[in-house]
Amino acid sequence: MPDMHIIGGGLAGSEAAWQLAEAGFTVRLSEMRGGGDTTPAHDSDRLAEMVCSNSFRSDDADKNAVGLLHQEMRGLGSLILRCADRHRVPAGSALAVDRETFATEVTRAIEGHPNITIVRERIDALPGHPAIIATGPLTGSAMAEAITAETGEGALAFFDAIAPIVHKDSVDMDIAWVQSRWDKGEGKDYINCPMDKAQYEAFIQALRDGDKTEFKEWERDTPYFEGCMPIEVMAERGVETLRFGPMKPVGLDDPRTGRWPYAVVQLRQDNALGTLWNMVGFQTKLKHGEQVRVFRTIPGLENAEFARLGGIHRNSFINSPRLLDGQLRLKSKPNIRFAGQITGCEGYVESAAVGLAAALFAAAEERGQVLAPPPVETALGALLSHITGGADAETFQPMNVNFGLMPPPEGRVKKADRRKAYTDRARAHFGAWLHSVRGGTVRGEAALA
Ligand code: FAD
Repeated sequence: MPDMHIIGGGLAGSEAAWQLAEAGFTVRLSEMRGGGDTTPAHDSDRLAEMVCSNSFRSDDADKNAVGLLHQEMRGLGSLILRCADRHRVPAGSALAVDRETFATEVTRAIEGHPNITIVRERIDALPGHPAIIATGPLTGSAMAEAITAETGEGALAFFDAIAPIVHKDSVDMDIAWVQSRWDKGEGKDYINCPMDKAQYEAFIQALRDGDKTEFKEWERDTPYFEGCMPIEVMAERGVETLRFGPMKPVGLDDPRTGRWPYAVVQLRQDNALGTLWNMVGFQTKLKHGEQVRVFRTIPGLENAEFARLGGIHRNSFINSPRLLDGQLRLKSKPNIRFAGQITGCEGYVESAAVGLAAALFAAAEERGQVLAPPPVETALGALLSHITGGADAETFQPMNVNFGLMPPPEGRVKKADRRKAYTDRARAHFGAWLHSVRGGTVRGEAALA
């Protein structure tokens, strides 16, 4: 048996295979496409196929967290970023690629690596040997059952139901206030945004009129639907439905009036740092532009910055904060690591990044070492820290990399300088981390300059 078994040859599995092989380990990469199986979204047998958009999003490492993640991945010798850079197409400051030549080059690189054997096969059970599971958001049913059998009922979700997440420092606290309903618990668990009758009725109308995303053909039988109803569907059911549901105002005293408002939108803390807050019960199929427009009509959220917008998709992901340790190992079966979208990260870049990290951790372990995760001030460290413990396990939903996953910059920083403060600090921490682990498993410091 090779040193490592990687299951799934998507963005994460391809990156993980490459990293382990480059570190000198032998890899069996099991990919079911090309072996008689496929997923509803893929349409080729190529490794690292991009199933929808051809963009790796912003490449601006000074202003954007995903651009910073690109830079860190380049610093770590990422195959996905190297191939993306080679097959770049014009897209302003975004890193967009020719998806066919990109995936062809990833496939060729992996096929040509002497340490990797690609086997076109579907794996239906969790192996007893060292393995990385990177089967993606459309993990087949037998593997999903095997994961559920190991981790317990409810630990693997089949759909996401994402409510938008707001950066706390963009909420207007002159309008919103902190209070738990009936002052329960600590009495300060929620941020409340009040609405009067006219504001509430206009809001319900905006939800009804807003442009929505359609479900894909293969997503239509959505078993989650009653339990996790999109907010606009509740608005359709009746003007009062939301006021008796997630927007109910009872037990919440607006300090400006001393009374309950007519309706309320509640935000709940979403990460241990307290920088990100989710809009409770606001899972939605509204288009992203519409979400920003409609949700900024909520008093207190006029200038809200969204770390993540809402959505509902078919998406298999495990409850990583509960199930995985800081090295991406399954706590109950530590020979198994998870990587990619199935860990609850969101996006091509994040999936490849978590694949890269899983491989670095595994390579160190194979050598009898322990690789410290990158610091939480870096893009990769912030993402890993969020999925392996920083996020609330009770409400865990897939997450893109964003500055809200990092501790806020120290001292007073002008709003215009904040992004630069995050990225400068991240580079310093990443450089120091790379330096400290050099000679172990990590290469490529020069690419960070
Ligand atoms: P994948 O790239 O899906 O790789 C998983 C691989 O595992 C697949 O090749 C699959 O065939 C294989 N596999 C599955 N089960 C088994 C098994 N039992 N045995 C062997 N092989 C198996 N992200 C973006 O950034 N931009 C987008 O536009 C975007 N659009 C998306 C559209 C859809 C419809 C979906 C479902 C997701 C989208 N995503 C998008 C989210 C996500 O970033 C991508 O799905 C990304 O490909 C995830 O990478 P991955 O490696 O985790 O999974």
